[in-house]
Amino acid sequence: MFYIHCPYCGEHREEEEFHPKGQAHIARPADPEACSDEAWGDYLFFRDNPRGIHHELWVHAVGCRKFFNVTRNTVTYEILETYKMGEQPTITAASQARQPADASSTAEVANQAGVRA
Ligand SMILES: [Zn+2]
Repeated sequence: MFYIHCPYCGEHREEEEFHPKGQAHIARPADPEACSDEAWGDYLFFRDNPRGIHHELWVHAVGCRKFFNVTRNTVTYEILETYKMGEQPTITAASQARQPADASSTAEVANQAGVRA
């Protein structure tokens, strides 16, 4: 079992209180009548399925019953942050792409230090 932080309750609660509801930040076309069938089909049915950082909509079903967003790594299943509806994530695929380069350079420095020692 693990715990998920609800940004509305302000505390970590058991995972069983929550349900995932799919991809977050999907904007409904402003004028559905003027929208092409392809664009409307994309809106209704097609979702991203990235390997890595993904922003998801979750609901605190057995708690406050509010929807909120989760940034999750689909490779490790790690939940990196939760944030309220209408807010933007602080962690994105672009921001994470910069980190491994920093981490590997740190590892290289550590390895060099290990060789010297
Ligand atoms: Zn809650």
